[in-house]
Amino acid sequence: MSKRYTITAALPYTNGPIHIGHLAGVYVPADIYSRYLRLTGNDVAFICGSDEHGVPITIKAKKEGVTPQDIVDKYHAIIKTSFEDFGITFDNYSRTSAKVHHNTASEFFKTLYDKNEFVEEVSEQLYDAEANQFLADRFVIGTCPKCGNEESYGDQCENCGTSHNATDLISPKSVITGNVPTLKETKHWFLPLNKHEQFLKEWILEGHKKDWKPNVYGQVKSWIDDGLRPRAVTRDLDWGIPVPIEGGEGKVLYVWFDAPIGYISATKEWAAREGKNWEDYWKNDDTTLVHFIGKDNIVFHCIIFPAMLKAEGSYILPENVPANEFLNLEGSKLSTSKNWAVWLPDYLQDFPNQQDVLRYALTANAPETKDNDFTWKDFQARNNNELVAIFGNFINRVVVLTNKYYNGIIPEPSDLSSIDQETLAAVKAYPSVISSSIERYRFREASQELMNLARLGNKYLADEEPWKTIKTDEERTKTVMFVALQIASALSVLCEPFLPFTSAKMKNILNSRDNSWNNISSKEILLPADHQIGKAELLFSKIEDAQIQVQLDKLEASKKANEAANKAIEPQKKEITFDDFTKLDIRVGTILEAEKMPKTKKLLVLTVDTGIDTRTIVSGIAESFKPEDVVGKRVTVLVNLAPRRLRGVESQGMILMTENESGDLVFVNPDIAEVDNGLKIS
Ligand SMILES: [Zn+2]
Repeated sequence: MSKRYTITAALPYTNGPIHIGHLAGVYVPADIYSRYLRLTGNDVAFICGSDEHGVPITIKAKKEGVTPQDIVDKYHAIIKTSFEDFGITFDNYSRTSAKVHHNTASEFFKTLYDKNEFVEEVSEQLYDAEANQFLADRFVIGTCPKCGNEESYGDQCENCGTSHNATDLISPKSVITGNVPTLKETKHWFLPLNKHEQFLKEWILEGHKKDWKPNVYGQVKSWIDDGLRPRAVTRDLDWGIPVPIEGGEGKVLYVWFDAPIGYISATKEWAAREGKNWEDYWKNDDTTLVHFIGKDNIVFHCIIFPAMLKAEGSYILPENVPANEFLNLEGSKLSTSKNWAVWLPDYLQDFPNQQDVLRYALTANAPETKDNDFTWKDFQARNNNELVAIFGNFINRVVVLTNKYYNGIIPEPSDLSSIDQETLAAVKAYPSVISSSIERYRFREASQELMNLARLGNKYLADEEPWKTIKTDEERTKTVMFVALQIASALSVLCEPFLPFTSAKMKNILNSRDNSWNNISSKEILLPADHQIGKAELLFSKIEDAQIQVQLDKLEASKKANEAANKAIEPQKKEITFDDFTKLDIRVGTILEAEKMPKTKKLLVLTVDTGIDTRTIVSGIAESFKPEDVVGKRVTVLVNLAPRRLRGVESQGMILMTENESGDLVFVNPDIAEVDNGLKIS
């Protein structure tokens, strides 16, 4: 039965391009889901847009000496193109700087204000006197009160996901000047989340215990159990949507208040264009609302936005928020600032027309229940061993043989053997198997079921061997090819959510416009005898080791560049007195012996002549030096460091190290061969 769906995908933040983490966490699963719903005959509004307000954009604009509008215009265009390039089928991709959004968000705020849903409060907020600026959100970092992460932002800790007020941070520091902020009074409007606690408990903790993903449910439960507090929804900033009430001059809406309303304004914009009624998609109980997001957005989509919708009163609430965990890249966290990422425009340059390969690799390895790692080796294996060797190989054999034996005209089958019948029955079962996985947001599983159908096709051909029977039994060969073509046709439809570009190519080759998921189970045959198909066309091609090495080298280069950049900007430590310095006793020494500490990667156990004595020092340099390379080295030793036991060995001092220009560890070397060990350095 056809149903109405509003599917939203997290609004990407317009301060940089999109990388594979975004694609894997949000946009590919949301697109698979939306395409699937359309193929099964539902009414879908798939909505997204650029999030163009907030502090990081103003910081970036300041850094580059341009206006915030310049920044968002640039990245909105880049991001929008990437989505189109990767076949993400948004019905509307809007932006929060659009007029319709400013109006919608302002009205939403006013409605809550008029209904007395805010608490107005003059409170002391963090202030940077030198910059003449209140320090909200990303203008301030400090220690997270929940997990102890020392680089938490003012509104959210990226380490534990907790959302808090800037004044909750321990030892806050201004991002603009590095100063310790002072407190200054200012008026703001707060959304009293505590007032909605009971509703959130009933709606999520009781109502969605079974159907929401455990990682989402667990986070939400922990926040609610900790107790919810009022959150300011306005800011003392100049970039954003002006607070539309008296007393709000010079203030804007908090970016996380306006951004989710962006889903509503983008729907309005689309509905106006398509001649539809937007309210059907947001205010009708028959509509299913689903938010696709990454795990860092859970608090905003499961607590704050629903509280806003509930307070407003006329909106539906999300049926599900299937947030994914994080995707890591080659063992490390993806990071825009550290350039540890695979950017979509770069990917397309290196792998032109291979969008489906990335979509597939990211889906087959999606971080659905826990953080997961993207490796280029896995990407290569998914392509070469699955897409090329199984899926592509099957389709290619079917099309080539049909052309070779029958000039591309599907042959008339004779009696079906029991294997043929079982095979066709198995094909008919696949739509509901894949549906069931997709409807439970298990896209990895769904993609593997799709591959299983291709495997079934391959096995059928390998067992029935039409290339042999063509010499002995023409009638049997016709039947086998007929059955194989039915499998190919089913694959061309069922792969569309996952491999949309390949699906289009296959439908073109098979000369088939049938696009209905449900027909595969219900129709007797999918491609009739006498139907003319086209010529074979390569669907996937092998990815060579050299191509993968290029990608690994790129990552290595950004690691090096990042290390160099970090070194350049590391701030000076706190001042010390001359007396503090004279407490350090640093001597010239020589390494006499060295051996690897058993069962460790990093530690070498060194015997060092310090001139005072011969002692043992454990040093964390084993990843950079082999024991035999350091014996005889002149070194600089801090000799009066209190002894410390490491893995049962007492270390009596520290060898001073630094890094060379390529980021490799090197000794701080006295480089004066004539001096005796024990010479003091001061
Ligand atoms: Zn934290």
